[in-house]
Amino acid sequence: MNPKQKKVVVIGAGLGGISAAISLRAKGYEVEVFEKNPQIGGKLNVREIDGFSFDLGPSIFTLPQIFRELFTRAGREMDDYVTLQRVTPQWRNFFEDGLVLDLFEEMDLMKAELAKLPGDHATNWREFQDFLDYGRRQYKLVESGYFAKGLDTTWQMIRHYGFFGLYRGMDWKDRMDGGIARRIRSEPMRRIFEYFIKYVGSSALDSPGYMNLMPIIQFDYGLWYVKDGMYGLATGLGRLAEEMGIRVRTSCGVAKIRTTGKKVSGVMLEDGTEVMADYVVSNREVIPAYRDLLDDEVSAKKMERFRPACSGLVVHLGVEGNYPQLAHHNFFYSKNQKKHFDTVFREGKLPDDPTIYLVAPTRTDPGKAPAGHDNLKILPHIPPIDPENPPTTEDYLALRERVLEKLERMGLQDLRKRTVVEDTLTPVDIERMYGSNRGSIYGVVTDWKLNRGFKAPKRSDRYRNLYFTGGSVNPGGGMPMVVLSGMKAADQLAAEPG
Ligand SMILES: Cc1cc2nc3c(=O)[nH]c(=O)nc-3n(C[C@H](O)[C@H](O)[C@H](O)COP(=O)(O)OP(=O)(O)OC[C@H]3O[C@@H](n4cnc5c(N)ncnc54)[C@H](O)[C@@H]3O)c2cc1C
Repeated sequence: MNPKQKKVVVIGAGLGGISAAISLRAKGYEVEVFEKNPQIGGKLNVREIDGFSFDLGPSIFTLPQIFRELFTRAGREMDDYVTLQRVTPQWRNFFEDGLVLDLFEEMDLMKAELAKLPGDHATNWREFQDFLDYGRRQYKLVESGYFAKGLDTTWQMIRHYGFFGLYRGMDWKDRMDGGIARRIRSEPMRRIFEYFIKYVGSSALDSPGYMNLMPIIQFDYGLWYVKDGMYGLATGLGRLAEEMGIRVRTSCGVAKIRTTGKKVSGVMLEDGTEVMADYVVSNREVIPAYRDLLDDEVSAKKMERFRPACSGLVVHLGVEGNYPQLAHHNFFYSKNQKKHFDTVFREGKLPDDPTIYLVAPTRTDPGKAPAGHDNLKILPHIPPIDPENPPTTEDYLALRERVLEKLERMGLQDLRKRTVVEDTLTPVDIERMYGSNRGSIYGVVTDWKLNRGFKAPKRSDRYRNLYFTGGSVNPGGGMPMVVLSGMKAADQLAAEPG
């Protein structure tokens, strides 16, 4: 088959959609992307208000090698499109008892920092290093197959790793928190390692132990910022797509995917235009795509184990002056983090005392706020919308108050009084803006009991020429993973016999 004679329609220009489009174009397919919003990038989004530039979505860039591979596929160098800046310290962690602990990629600094922990320093340092070794073993295994080969099912995993290989090497027996508790005795370090699950919006109590690979992505490969703002990544990818001759049509939503028997035949746009295609790649998540674009409730129901990951209350504040105690990335821990995970992920309720992620990007990029001001993004993870019992606006406002009170109590004095600009997004906004399933911000939840940590397969089992990319398919949410899913979806599509 000559790919040059085949046309692919991509629904959505989030990072997953753009990655699939670039990969397919590089293989010779004719590619047209339809994006409902006026701009590309999906959740990688930015809003300018009164001189403040708020990154509405991602703020942490990890695993640059995955993005580099996408540029390499297109015969380009990433550095010609996107400039990365290393962020150090990587995270600053604040606890209610006054402990403040930084995470450093530089192990000499990290070792010195651990002296702040109660207990024997040598023991804490040895346990920290042993934990990273365990995480590194998990990362290497997961990377060699699940990431590199784009594996989609338990059966493919067993074929790749071998039954015993899979169960011997990968930590399936513990949940993430269990794998941590078994190796680390310092309570604050336990809380910090548990909260690495933030990268996929899930719970450390319910995720498989192998998710303890997460710290490795930042300790071994660095934590980065995109120079001049995270949206620079979308701009760089948009430029590349244009140079490659990919047609990206913004403000142009897809209303329906057309089918004939077991195949899809194209899409109908919201303005009624029909567009024929040999393949469709959906960057709309799997469940809403079946439900809304294919009117296929039965397939959507079959996908129930691919429940949405968490949503977030995303509070952007422009404030007078600045808080010198903050680093670029900060975490303010719950007094009882297990209760936080329980409330959000098992009970599906808004938390009383969440662990809060707070980004202060002016530490790396002073241009994000006008002189004499600071730019803060505050993000507690909260449940996706429960359609049976959705929280009210008052519930979200009450949570916002609890969060700001907690931050003031933990040292950000007069935060509310000093606020001059605010822009807050609730799960309802996130669902509306990106069409995500119940306002999820990371696609599908990683949950041992529900899905063993797998997301949906990249190829539809209902329609042979329909593929998916993005946070709802393997390997899941977060910028590097959705970019990987786009490349792997393209590889699967191109490997089809025609
Ligand atoms: C507040 C927040 C903080 C985050 N922090 C981080 C972080 O620090 N680091 C990190 O790596 N990740 C982070 N993430 C997660 C990351 O943003 C996502 O995993 C990733 O960007 C999702 O990409 P995607 O391609 O799966 O989906 P999306 O970005 O949601 O893209 C889907 C696209 O499809 C479009 N679309 C939907 N329906 C249609 C239709 N019918 N027709 C046409 N177009 C349609 C949407 O408009 C959208 O542009 C964060 C996300 C949020 C919201």
